[in-house]
Amino acid sequence: MTRPRQITLTQWDGRYADLCRRGLREADYGGPLSRHVDDGDHRLTKLLFDDSAAALRLWNLLLTEEDRLHAARRAGRKIVGVMKDLGTIPVMAYALDNLVAFYPDGAWWIPCIMEHSTRLLEIADSLGIDESFCPVRAMLGAFVNGEHFPIPDLLVCSVGAVCDDFSAIAQRLPDLGFDVLWWEIPHRRAPDAGEPAVQLPGNLIAPKSQVEFVMGELDRVRRALADMAGRPLDDDALAAGIEQANLVREKLARLRMAVFTAEPCPMPALEMLIAEMLAIHYCSDRDETLAVLDDLLAEVDARLAANDYRPTTDDYPARIFWVNPVADIRVMNLLEQCGGRICGTEYLFSHALDPIDTDVPPLEALARSALADLMVGPVGDRAARILADMERFGCEALLISRIPGASHCALEGRLIADVVSAHRRIPILEIEVPSISDAMRPTLQTRIEALVETAVSRRDHGLTRFDTD
Ligand code: SF4
Repeated sequence: MTRPRQITLTQWDGRYADLCRRGLREADYGGPLSRHVDDGDHRLTKLLFDDSAAALRLWNLLLTEEDRLHAARRAGRKIVGVMKDLGTIPVMAYALDNLVAFYPDGAWWIPCIMEHSTRLLEIADSLGIDESFCPVRAMLGAFVNGEHFPIPDLLVCSVGAVCDDFSAIAQRLPDLGFDVLWWEIPHRRAPDAGEPAVQLPGNLIAPKSQVEFVMGELDRVRRALADMAGRPLDDDALAAGIEQANLVREKLARLRMAVFTAEPCPMPALEMLIAEMLAIHYCSDRDETLAVLDDLLAEVDARLAANDYRPTTDDYPARIFWVNPVADIRVMNLLEQCGGRICGTEYLFSHALDPIDTDVPPLEALARSALADLMVGPVGDRAARILADMERFGCEALLISRIPGASHCALEGRLIADVVSAHRRIPILEIEVPSISDAMRPTLQTRIEALVETAVSRRDHGLTRFDTD
């Protein structure tokens, strides 16, 4: 095998049978992918999937999360719903083995995966959270109809320097009878002259006073988690949780580096998007996340080792850096169909990919990690990270994918583009992707093809990768 092959859901049925005949061993949540359509996941019928057993395991882990959460409740484990911080509180929750944490925010993909069959957005509309808000408003519908994730035993949400959308949406929950433990994340600022400062992950810096403030906030969350679990959440337990989180992040870093820098690309954009998402809360199963990442790494290593395909300059896809997750995951397929490939991402949770510090007390390390969230600081910090990662992975073009209704997307894309283009002459495209993008597909296709053609044509002029001419 030299190049990864993408197949349809129907083709996966035959592929699955073939893998089974050849002795496929699966986790208990395994099975053919097409069975998820019976649960309402109709979008799967429109996607192209990587054909590896590793990808099968990844998709099955993703698509069985709700079952896993309900099973955890039946087994007597407590469910923690974590909102907005994307990557920090779950590290704390999974330090206690009778807690399971997940992000209700993840409901934002339900309208896409289930192709609007659940009317979650209509429920949000009826609660005054209309389409002027981002698709995370689907979370409200999922809380109200109770047909998706189990209602958590404890809800924890970060406030302060978070987007207006999430603030407004989450603030509706107490009105609806769902208690929330709020904790504050301040807007990360540059330290004043002479002010004690702390280095954060992601090459960021913050005043020491802000780190101490967040430590105090996280300590409140620590006590709530311990009360819920009925056991202490001490520094030893937190340190062990951080060690496991860093293991996940280290495997993901290896996977991203291997995939983003290899030619030809050994793993498609869609599977890589899902793999990156595992960092946030391990898809409610940390051990399986580690196993899935091991399988993906082994598959990528095997493909690279077996590869005898040598693309010419004209032959390999344009190397695209992608900003923001897409509301419709089908667009990740479209990028490849337009002649592009992913070589770097900033999906709003880069801080969940960076290793957590291990040379300071655990709560301080977690506070540093939470403050390193690119969405709680100035957009210039986010643009600088994007620029640095574009260079690291050798990207040829930047694609900024706006999220419909998202308050930060109104101007942020322009600002990021300005910063990047001030440093590098590189093609940049901004698009907007709704939850179901089929009606816009011709427009999106034309625009992405134009970006790809521009990036590739620069090779003819010797302006490849990150050359600045
Ligand atoms: S506006 Fe952006 S950051 Fe806020 S909830 Fe929506 S997608 Fe997340």
